Amino acid sequence: MTTLAILTAAGSGSRLGRDLPKALVELDGFPLVLHAARRLAASGVVDSLVVTAPHGLAGVMTDLLAGDPHVLVPVEVTSGGPTRQASVAAGLAHASPGDDVVLVHDAARPLVPAELVRRVVTAVRAGHGAVVPGLPVTDTVKQVSPDGDAELVVGTPDRSALRAVQTPQGFARDLLVRAHRTGAARAAAEHLAATDDAGLVEALGEPVHMVAGDATAFKITTERDLWLASLVLQETIA
Ligand code: C5P
Repeated sequence: MTTLAILTAAGSGSRLGRDLPKALVELDGFPLVLHAARRLAASGVVDSLVVTAPHGLAGVMTDLLAGDPHVLVPVEVTSGGPTRQASVAAGLAHASPGDDVVLVHDAARPLVPAELVRRVVTAVRAGHGAVVPGLPVTDTVKQVSPDGDAELVVGTPDRSALRAVQTPQGFARDLLVRAHRTGAARAAAEHLAATDDAGLVEALGEPVHMVAGDATAFKITTERDLWLASLVLQETIA
């Protein structure tokens, strides 16, 4: 019984406006993907890593991760696909028969605390087939639909029942495999929003449970996020 973490790092990250894929952009002198890999390895509950690399950069990723003294678990690098979902499926194909739990984590969340990784794995091992970390939503959220050159507000969901979802998301391996095979097709056919792996499990009609997320696991999308992440790192070291 082992836990595999799929680290998705094959995106372009065009919103950062660099000529590098986002996972290779540096934070405090190290690429985002390396920060994330180190933190997954440091959790003590991840036995191996599969990293999805941008097209043509599998060699670069391998050199970066396999040679790092802080990534003390076996690392395999595989080429990602054109979408995040395809990249996760490519990573999942590398699971060993003994990997009964699979985590999916975005390299774009480089500061994920080890405690959060452990919380997710503990919940899966306690018997929940699909587990996501989430945080309460602090802004009021409106649902809109297109209306000419503007948007029309069509609803205001109850904020107390909303959560912003992070990674790592954790799964019983068999359920995640089924979600990628069947849930993905069902989600597409029924126009369900399956923008994360848990969404594919939901499309199967299977339960997804939530544990408390952590603000430090925020996603790097813009230059401002990178700046914030470097402040968080300084604060942790100080
Ligand atoms: O673009 P976004 O930040 O939403 O991507 C989330 C994660 O999925 C990133 O870590 C990115 O590298 C990864 N990804 C991937 N393959 C893709 C697209 C995104 O592994 N084709």
